[in-house]
Amino acid sequence: MTFRTAYGNTRSENGWRMCNRDACERILIPGADNQFLAALIVRSGPSEVVLRAWAIWYHRNVERLDLYKAGVGDDWGWSLVNDVGDSNHLSGTGYDFNAVQYPWKLRTMPAGRKQKVREGLRLFEDNIFWGADWARADEMHYQLNKGTASGDGASAKLIEFARRLEAGYLGLLAGTTVPPVLPKPVARPTLRRGDSGGEVTYLQGLLNRMFASYSKLAVDGDFGPATESVVREVQRRSNLAVDGVVGPDTWRAAGQR
Ligand SMILES: [Zn+2]
Repeated sequence: MTFRTAYGNTRSENGWRMCNRDACERILIPGADNQFLAALIVRSGPSEVVLRAWAIWYHRNVERLDLYKAGVGDDWGWSLVNDVGDSNHLSGTGYDFNAVQYPWKLRTMPAGRKQKVREGLRLFEDNIFWGADWARADEMHYQLNKGTASGDGASAKLIEFARRLEAGYLGLLAGTTVPPVLPKPVARPTLRRGDSGGEVTYLQGLLNRMFASYSKLAVDGDFGPATESVVREVQRRSNLAVDGVVGPDTWRAAGQR
């Protein structure tokens, strides 16, 4: 479990220390097709317990998290890089649900679904913050709230809430099982101009999320000139060969994990 400095910040927006991948683990959701949730990686410990419980609650009560199957999923947790320098993704304490459905800065969630989310947030006693409550709406995004960190770890409040969840509160964690062996993550294909389909949709969503300042692509599954131009910019900024072709190095530069 190691910490780091990201974009000059030792802590992310909610007060948690910036961390490396080794401080995180993958969330598994009982009853979900977990191969589509491979990037749902969050900070280990009480944070993982509470974030896992929230993901399970959402999956059961709001909408499935493994809806998107054209690529390998659009649910994202911890990330090494982010366009927002103090993003809570960098500390493994924020994650995005069904990101393709909920583009950043737009409000697209139906009223009934929002009401359901609010109901859940109340049950989670202010431990979870929803990105829809920012002026720049981020309806896909949930995170540990401010006040859930203390020093380099969890606050007493979060630890107490995690214990209660593990003891059966809300019936989310007790007695749940997930498949012990998970399918291997799907290898990303090489993509170039002219390609289309689910993998391109996934790429476009990833680019818009990771490089929001200059990637504002229509997530339409068509790899046209606009997508190529963003890919070239990513390559230029990552000191890669600027060829507009998305191979393993470019996938990595785009934050694929
Ligand atoms: Zn997010």
